[in-house]
Amino acid sequence: MTRRAYTSTRRDQTSSITERVTARDVLSLAGFAEPNRNDMMRCPVHAEKTASFHVLERGFRCFGCGAHGGLFALCIVLDIARDHSSAARWLEENIGHE
Ligand SMILES: [Zn+2]
Repeated sequence: MTRRAYTSTRRDQTSSITERVTARDVLSLAGFAEPNRNDMMRCPVHAEKTASFHVLERGFRCFGCGAHGGLFALCIVLDIARDHSSAARWLEENIGHE
């Protein structure tokens, strides 16, 4: 396990956060309703009546508009963060405490 020695502290922190957090954690912390038992919810990106937004373990994919990504992209589509680094900061502040 020498990988740690070759990565910067900040990068290491970021990867450990995304390893600890799930997409459901992000949704509940941000005050969104839980996805249904099929892990589907209504898409925050496009207007729709039926849920076509599939919540994955650490990401999402919308079958309606094709939006997809990981946890940072999820923070952005939920309007928690405006870019990758503010998403990382939000996760650190809300979840990054051990
Ligand atoms: Zn969509």
